[in-house]
Amino acid sequence: SFLSSNEIRKRFIDYFVKENDHKYIKSSPVVPYNDPTIAFVNAGMCQFKSVLLGQRTLAANCVANSQKCIRVGGKHNDLDIVGSDGYHHTFFEMLGNWSFGHYGKAEACHLAWNLLTLPPFNIPTEQLYCTVFNGDRTLDVESDNETLQIWKNIGVNDDHIVMNGVNDNFWEMGETGPCGPCTEIHIDYPPSGGKNLIELWNIVFIQYSREKNTMRKLPNYFIDTGMGLERLTMVLQDKTSTYDTDLFSSIFNIIFNACRISKYTGLYDGTSLDTYYRVLADHGRMITVALSDNMLPSQNHKLRRLIRKSFILAETNFKIQPGYTLICDIANEVSNSLGNVYPELIKNNEKVKHLIKHEYAIFNKLRMSVSKDWKIMVEECPMLKSFDPYEECTGFVPACNYLIKHKNMSNIPAFTLYDAFGLEKKTIGRLAEVMGKPVNWNELYEKLKKLQTKTIKHTERKSNIYMTGNIPKTDDSFKYEVIRHNNESYLSPVL
Ligand code: ATP
Ligand code: MG
Ligand code: MG
Ligand code: MG
Repeated sequence: SFLSSNEIRKRFIDYFVKENDHKYIKSSPVVPYNDPTIAFVNAGMCQFKSVLLGQRTLAANCVANSQKCIRVGGKHNDLDIVGSDGYHHTFFEMLGNWSFGHYGKAEACHLAWNLLTLPPFNIPTEQLYCTVFNGDRTLDVESDNETLQIWKNIGVNDDHIVMNGVNDNFWEMGETGPCGPCTEIHIDYPPSGGKNLIELWNIVFIQYSREKNTMRKLPNYFIDTGMGLERLTMVLQDKTSTYDTDLFSSIFNIIFNACRISKYTGLYDGTSLDTYYRVLADHGRMITVALSDNMLPSQNHKLRRLIRKSFILAETNFKIQPGYTLICDIANEVSNSLGNVYPELIKNNEKVKHLIKHEYAIFNKLRMSVSKDWKIMVEECPMLKSFDPYEECTGFVPACNYLIKHKNMSNIPAFTLYDAFGLEKKTIGRLAEVMGKPVNWNELYEKLKKLQTKTIKHTERKSNIYMTGNIPKTDDSFKYEVIRHNNESYLSPVL
């Protein structure tokens, strides 16, 4: 029988903590603390950034954890792939281990290789491939021959080692600062003689500091690794995708029990209900985790868009009325299944459902003002004929209705279409074309920028707003309080 995802996560932590002297560090919330460069915590290293930057030292010189990560927007934006591939999620758990000047490359590679290939995981070595950095002249960084040799010593065949350049195998935090080559373990999955490579584990050697014009070699380097729990579980449970593992099957059951239309069958044809199953289950996990970490939709535009998209999916594709009930059911399931690892999911479950319901009320009020009858719309505005409303996103028909009702507008209100109806920029452009009107892109970019700074302000821990107790108002009728967590303070809704 296969290991459960809980057993796999536990095995990873026990291996590093109990057998290899790492200290266990809890997952940080997905709300970035004082980091204006990201909208969500997107990797295990985020909470160690100050350590990597040399601003802080930890008592422990090697640590391990499983970190809640969200990749929507920014450098790592996996939102558009979700549902169409079987191994990218907006929310996923990153299993990681770090060495802060303690062990080196050889130990990091051996630790990873042994965990994967020895019992209880027992992944066949023929299925594993390693990537290694092959150097870059303009960066003035040499090829990582040390790591190449380590993999060879471990017994990895030459034809299972892939040499890559900066784009694939050089990690940088920003334009300056800590950086270095990485080596990745990929899995040929399902086995295909090396054609189906999926990245499993990324091991970064933070060996350099990039300064204005030079690369400085660090005297004591850091090791930063990350492996997706969902992908590892897929492999160890012998499933065709992460969605077929126990991490998702319980959510699919919740969706099926609510809709009773058809069960999840694992098709990737792009038209069956399966794609929507995947997207909804993925988004449901992301929404639950973000809300339970006290992120507010009014403060994070990306979160609000995902919540609205989920309501629409629940109602349009799964015929659940009102849509929020299904999202709340999913939130319950996420709290049940991941609450043992992230207890805040249990503690905040009621709060999460309150917020979902509240978001629905705001969204519904907005939708009430638009009718849905596409036929009438096309009669009134024949150029809409070139669109298939069912091929478009679900907010498309209400958006067209809105445009017809406001025929006299001199331009296409990009922000409203994007924000309230969830249209992609591409669709907005096409609509503008058939309607022969200019698009108000400026307004869209300005408002998005404002929303972004709003998000940053709310999550900036050292910002004066917390110090003076001058908490900003938003369109929500909620009250806020300042929560202290690990000596940091941040805003939290009071329900
Ligand atoms: P990929 O190339 O597959 O997009 P990545 O290089 O962006 O992955 P890293 O930033 O190196 O990923 O993160 C470390 C590990 O986290 C990856 O090796 C992978 O196992 C996992 N991972 C990354 N992105 C996702 C995602 N969107 N969903 C699930 N797991 C992910
Ligand atoms: Mg990626
Ligand atoms: Mg990659
Ligand atoms: Mg990677």
